[in-house]
Amino acid sequence: MKPTSIQIIEKLKQAGYQAYWAGGCVRDMLMGHEPKDFDIATSAKPEEIEDLLDYTKPVGKEFGVILVIEGGHAFEVATFRSDSGYSDGRRPDAVFFSNPEADALRRDFTINGMFYDPIADKIFDYVGGEKDIEAKLINFIGDPHERILEDHLRILRAVRFKNQFNFQYNPDTYNALKKHAKLASKVSMERIFSELNKMIEGPNPAQAIEDLSELKILEEIIPELEKLRGVPQPLQYHHEGDVWDHSLKALAECDKHAPRNVKWACLMHDIGKPDTFDLEERIRFYGHAEKGAEIAGEILRRLKFPKKDRLKVQWLITHHMMMEQLIEMNPGRARAWFLKEEFLQLMQVFEADAKGIIPVDLSLYDKILARYRKLMAQMPHMPKPLVTGKDVMKMLGMKPGKEVGEIVGKAFHQQLDGKIKTRTKALAFIQKFNKKK
Ligand code: ATP
Ligand code: MG
Repeated sequence: MKPTSIQIIEKLKQAGYQAYWAGGCVRDMLMGHEPKDFDIATSAKPEEIEDLLDYTKPVGKEFGVILVIEGGHAFEVATFRSDSGYSDGRRPDAVFFSNPEADALRRDFTINGMFYDPIADKIFDYVGGEKDIEAKLINFIGDPHERILEDHLRILRAVRFKNQFNFQYNPDTYNALKKHAKLASKVSMERIFSELNKMIEGPNPAQAIEDLSELKILEEIIPELEKLRGVPQPLQYHHEGDVWDHSLKALAECDKHAPRNVKWACLMHDIGKPDTFDLEERIRFYGHAEKGAEIAGEILRRLKFPKKDRLKVQWLITHHMMMEQLIEMNPGRARAWFLKEEFLQLMQVFEADAKGIIPVDLSLYDKILARYRKLMAQMPHMPKPLVTGKDVMKMLGMKPGKEVGEIVGKAFHQQLDGKIKTRTKALAFIQKFNKKK
């Protein structure tokens, strides 16, 4: 991808235009990270880019952005531009083509505002980006207040980049973020969703949520999480603090390679606790898993999470309290759980939940892991049922219905339990349900 992007730059330069790597890829390169994609900024106008390069797509021609497809990759090639007027708090009212310096000034943060000429090996830094990378600072280009009022998404982008790179906020940037936090609620759910996911999937998800809360942004976008603050847990088991502290610690402890759904489940696994708090002989939260799944469902629906993922997160939350049951249930039922496609994700939630508690006690988790390994070694895949509904109906002279399904289920259970190993034995088991006898 990198050599191809250099070839595109070469072509543009040979035709007499200026052309550079721009934005995120320059930042990543200077920080020693491999860029995800290579965006190119050039003095060539959209039509000139289209004329010069073979395969192009006018994805944002009105903004001067042309997608160039080369060597199996797509590159955004954009004409140097300035934006003017952001009356909707989101998109410029008009853009006009300009020069590299003006193009740098329309970008959000200094670290995202540099250009690099890969052929001459020369950096063009009009905004002090290099200095801020060195100091590890997130710093708006220009006046932070104006930049946030132009495009409110930048509030979330600031938190995302800060946590993606383990930076700090420049004080002016920090104060402006806090001052305008309310504007985050005006950002479209799709854009919020995308930024939140990048925070959750990034290297510091719990710190990112802490930042959102500290900056008063979280109460605008997921107020349900703020309700976890101050909800006490039984002190004899939880020294880490309240439900908020525990939830963030669980998220921080979640396996960093775990899929996004697991991380969301870790963050929200106890979100039902504020509504189910009860004081009997000690603090209890009856039904908090089910309640939590319901609240998480509302949040994720609002964030426009894909339904399939939302249901998975809800499933993980609903079942996050079943560790003890999994130890106690008979091998057949335990096997049915272990063989579920999502079971290992549930294990990741169990583990994060246990590690989110101080003092950490992994003994129950380790017991389940041992039982999982033992039962899976004996029967690594979901076996094919030895008997089917057809067998049941034929043998017992029954009509299709719930009862048939129940008998098939019982037989399958025996099979998972290891008590029935052959079809003959399974058929004999069914025969026991023959009422005529
Ligand atoms: P990532 O690695 O996450 O893609 P990136 O810096 O490439 O980071 P993009 O969202 O791909 O971020 O945007 C590319 C560049 O466009 C940014 O580096 C920045 O210069 C500019 N940019 C993107 N979004 C905005 C915005 N909302 N306001 C101002 N400039 C922006
Ligand atoms: Mg990018």
